[in-house]
Amino acid sequence: MDLIDTQLRLPAVEPEWVERVRGPGGPLADMAHAVGGPFHVLHPARFAENAAGFRRVLAEHQVPGRVYFGKKANKSGCWLEECARTDTGVDVASVPEFAEALAHGIRGHEIVVTGAAKSDRLIWLAARHGALLAVDALDELDRVCALAETAGALRILLRVLPETNPHSRFGFTGDELDEAIRRCAAAGDALRMEGFSFHLNGYEVAPRAALAAELIERCRTARAAGLPADSISIGGGFAVDYLDARDWERFHREYADSWFHAEKKFTHFYPYHSEPTGARMLAAILDTDRLAAQLRETGTRLLLEPGRALLDGCGFTVFPVQGYKPRRDYGIVTVAGLSMSISEQWKGSEYLPDPVLWPESGTGEPVSACVGGSSCLDYDMLSWRKIAFPRAPRNGDLLVYPNTAGYQMDKNETEFHQLPLPARIVVSTENEQTRWRIERPVS
Ligand SMILES: *Cc1c(COP(=O)(O)O)cnc(C)c1O
Repeated sequence: MDLIDTQLRLPAVEPEWVERVRGPGGPLADMAHAVGGPFHVLHPARFAENAAGFRRVLAEHQVPGRVYFGKKANKSGCWLEECARTDTGVDVASVPEFAEALAHGIRGHEIVVTGAAKSDRLIWLAARHGALLAVDALDELDRVCALAETAGALRILLRVLPETNPHSRFGFTGDELDEAIRRCAAAGDALRMEGFSFHLNGYEVAPRAALAAELIERCRTARAAGLPADSISIGGGFAVDYLDARDWERFHREYADSWFHAEKKFTHFYPYHSEPTGARMLAAILDTDRLAAQLRETGTRLLLEPGRALLDGCGFTVFPVQGYKPRRDYGIVTVAGLSMSISEQWKGSEYLPDPVLWPESGTGEPVSACVGGSSCLDYDMLSWRKIAFPRAPRNGDLLVYPNTAGYQMDKNETEFHQLPLPARIVVSTENEQTRWRIERPVS
């Protein structure tokens, strides 16, 4: 059993509520019985705490602004009701996302619409509801002006192509921005140009702070041209910690292809541990080169659009074990469900936090095993990595993938093989009791 002794374990950093669901006396077995297939467990109260953390950082820095939840990170409606309760806006990029936000009580002025060339219908909806629209190109700006004639004035931001992401397909170049500002000034009352936005790849503090400072200057110039320009949006990309620093460092130090089924080779992983993360990363941005003071002194509002970071610790995914196949030196677990429910697997990468076998008790020797989905594709793997299990998983057990709410659970899900999509279970605490319900669509 050499492999198991040397096997790297990557236990997830988990919030306290998880134990109440998964621990002794918790409702996990009842949930699995009710659903009879794979499912996601969602905890909106944690989302509200994460959102409060971001708002607190803005308040502590005395920076006026708004947090918008990047909705694409999870399709569930339960987060939107927390947004409505906590004065958090929503960042949408399609008509159905816009409609769902409204249906869950978000008001038009609390919505920001982002994304590449938007449909006329989406622009029209933004105009009708007074949403803020991040314009991405000159031809889109012209369509926005034309639609404003019938739909009413539009609130817009101009999205900037960052020098640090020169190959991004989003945003205006410097020259295009100058032209866009001329057209905004010429549009008169049809447009309310409220400022500039960006969204950077990666999870670095410094480039965000630097570009934010640059956009404050752009706002000053635009104001001189008679435009309102009192806001900048720094987008999303606030990092999340899934793993402890020591485990992550050891993962890199000892990394070996032999850890993975079929010796699969990987070239990139999400930074499963980084520092700072979430709201502390916002604080670090605001503390760089007096950014907070610059915002205050110039009367500029700070908008941000975190997706993943608001969903940190907000959910996990449960797959019933269907079978276990011992091979020579490791096993293969097959679960009910598909690797599409772990989106990282579809980016040529791997979701690394260890899945947990439930129940933990049971007899047998420890084993190490990779995890496959219940499809006919050899590459439908939820974990290529051979996971150390306390005993061999067997039919009737559950396999729990931790912290999946941000992008993992539903971004790539399909009804492949005509299998139904996993159910969603929303957990809350009422009078110190853990309650759960199966989420149904609002419309
Ligand atoms: C995806 C996206 C976000 C959210 O990004 P996260 O990495 O989830 O924080 C915010 N703004 C824009 C424009 C996006 O495309």
